[in-house]
Amino acid sequence: MAVHPDNPPEVTREQAEDAVRTLLRWAGDDPGREGLQDTPKRVVKAYREWFSGYALDPDEYLARTFEEVEGYDEMIVLRDIEYESHCEHHMAPIIGRVHVGYLPRGKVVGISKLARVVDAYAKRFQVQEKMTAQIAGCIQRALAPHGVGVVVEGAHECMTTRGVHKRGVSMITSTMLGSFREDARTRAEFLRFIEASGARR
Ligand SMILES: [Zn+2]
Repeated sequence: MAVHPDNPPEVTREQAEDAVRTLLRWAGDDPGREGLQDTPKRVVKAYREWFSGYALDPDEYLARTFEEVEGYDEMIVLRDIEYESHCEHHMAPIIGRVHVGYLPRGKVVGISKLARVVDAYAKRFQVQEKMTAQIAGCIQRALAPHGVGVVVEGAHECMTTRGVHKRGVSMITSTMLGSFREDARTRAEFLRFIEASGARR
C-alpha cells in the first residue's frame, strides 16, 4: 500500500473509479457506454504505476555504497536517464531526461541505483524544479560527495496540448551543489559531458 509522506486519508478503489466516472461525465461523455465501461478500472490501475513513487523511499536505494574504488576521485556522470512524471498543476505528463553527476569523496553507488532514485521522485505529482532539487539532495545525503550536479529536461504536456500550445519546447532545470556550484571548472566539465548527449540527438 502506498505510503504518502503527508498521510492522506485512505481512498478505496471504488471511490477512485467513481472519481474517474465523474471526470468522464465532466468531459461530456457517458461513462455507462460500452467503450468506457472498463475505463475507470484501467485508469485506476494506471495510476498505481504512474504514481508508484509514493511507496518508494529514494534514500533507501542509495543506502548501499561502495568504498573500494581504488582511489577513483574523478567525476561520475550518468546521462540521458529517461523519466515520465506528471505535473502537479494539471496532472498532465512530463516526459524527459535527467543527467546526474557527482564528484565522489571515497564512496560511490551502483549506477542503476541513480536511475531508480530518478524514478522514485518522477513517479509522483511533480514540479520539475522540485524534482531536480530532490534528486540532488538525495545523492548529497547518501554519498556526501564533493559536489553534485543534476540537470533535468522536460516536455510538459500541459503546455504542448493546452494553454499556449507550444510543441517542441523543453524546460531545463538544474541544481548544483558543492564543487559543482563553487568551482566553474567542475561545473563546465559536467556540462561538457552532458552536452555530448545533446549533440547526439
Ligand atoms: Zn502543468
